[in-house]
Formats: sequence, structure tokens, C-alpha cells
Amino acid sequence: MGRVYLTGAGPGDIELMTVKALRVVKEADVIIYDRLANPEILEEAKSGCEFVYVGKEDGRHIMPQDDINEVIYQNALKYENVVRLKGGDPFVFGRGGEEAIYLLERGIKFDIIPGITSAISGPAYAGIPVTHRGVAVSFRVVTGHESPNKKVSQIPWDTFKTDDTIVFLMGLHNISKISNKLMEIGKARDYPVAVISKGTTKDQSVVVGTLENIVEKTKDVPTPALIVVGKVVLLREQLKWFGENA
Ligand code: SAH
Repeated sequence: MGRVYLTGAGPGDIELMTVKALRVVKEADVIIYDRLANPEILEEAKSGCEFVYVGKEDGRHIMPQDDINEVIYQNALKYENVVRLKGGDPFVFGRGGEEAIYLLERGIKFDIIPGITSAISGPAYAGIPVTHRGVAVSFRVVTGHESPNKKVSQIPWDTFKTDDTIVFLMGLHNISKISNKLMEIGKARDYPVAVISKGTTKDQSVVVGTLENIVEKTKDVPTPALIVVGKVVLLREQLKWFGENA
């Protein structure tokens, strides 16, 4: 029986993967990965390592999560070193917890290897610090997958009135509803918003706007993309350092 390494691959820039993640990738007998993990990482695997793609896009699973869990389990019965490679951090909207529980219930040992999440590194590569003295004393990472129009929302919209930074993952398709909802709870129409697409990669693009105009400005933005709402967005003007318009 093998051991499963639930591993964060980092956000895109291959150098943002941890030393530990790189070690387990090099030692892996099989790597189970999805779209968000940079495929260049697979080149680090030893010869003979098997690759299993369990595609996943923007939180939508091409393979149902139950099937992914079972694939990981079956591979753990077969191989000694099983790497489950996930974009960013495995516990930040990565369903890493569900995979760990599935393995636990079947007596499979696992390690969790945290990764650099896109929620922080995407903004960082766009020159946006998620906290900044005098501007934002906290930040939240929120799912953008749930429609803000849902009758019983799990998202505490009413608590978003402060100037704390809000990062929405999986939210580009809901950006119109999200920005409307934030104006509805009282945020100004000219409140700063940024959308960061393919953050930390050579294809990174950043659009800065306001709650009122961000929808119009991000019509053709490719995924994966995240949304940053907060006054920290304005710091990009001074701090942008990466990519084309730096
Ligand atoms: N576990 C991942 C997040 C998985 S949810 C992490 O910690 O980063 C998937 C969402 O993450 C995408 O819909 C998008 O909002 C965001 N995302 C992942 N990689 C990204 C990137 N390179 N640039 C911008 N957003 C990204």
C-alpha cells in the first residue's frame, strides 16, 4: 500500500512550487493532476512515472469528485508514491480535504503539502498586496461559484461593507452578479476592482476597473481568473512589476 502526497503545485510560475513538492514529484510513481497545475512540472518526474489527468476547470469537474477520489485510492493500492498534484494550495477550494477523508476512511496514509495559492500570489504578481497598513487590515478568499442571487447564501455578503480585501476565486462567470451585489450592500460604484487572468504565468493579464465598469472591461478575459475587490487594488499603480504593462 502506498502513500499519497496531496500536493500544491503553486499558481502557475513553476518556480513558485515548494522544494517539498518538487521532491515528491521527482520520486513519484504516478502523478494525478488537473488543468490548473502547470504541466511543465510533469517534466520533473522520473522516467517510467505514470500520469493520470483528472481534468478540472474553474471548479467544474470534468471527472466527478467521487471518481477522482477512487482513482487516487486505486493508485495508492498499486503504487508506493502517489502524488495528487493540484493547482495553488490543495486546501484552498481544492477539495483536498475531501480527498484526504476518502483516503483516511480506507486506511491510506497521506501527506499534505501546502502550495502557494493563486489567491495571494495572483494579486502579488499584479502588484497588489492583499493587506496594506492603513488600507486593509485583513483579506478574505471567497468562492465566486455560488450565485449571489441564491436565496439562502452561505456567503456573508453583509459583512463585506468594510474596506478589507475580498478575493473571489471561480467567480469570472458571476462577475456581474458579484459586483451588483457589492453595490447593493453599499459599496461605491467607483470602488476599485481588479481581475487577474492566468496570474504568475507569462500570459498573465490584469484589468483594473470599478464595480460599475469591471464587467464591461473583462468581457474577453480568459480563465483561470480571480477578482480582487478593495482599495489595495489602487497600489498596483505604484507596485506593478511583472508582465507586459509593468
Ligand atoms: N487551489 C487553488 C484554487 C482552486 S479554485 C489555489 O489555491 O490557487 C480555481 C480558481 O482559482 C480559478 O477559478 C481562479 O479563480 C483561481 N486561479 C487558479 N489559478 C489561477 C491563476 N494562475 N490566475 C488567476 N486565477 C487563478
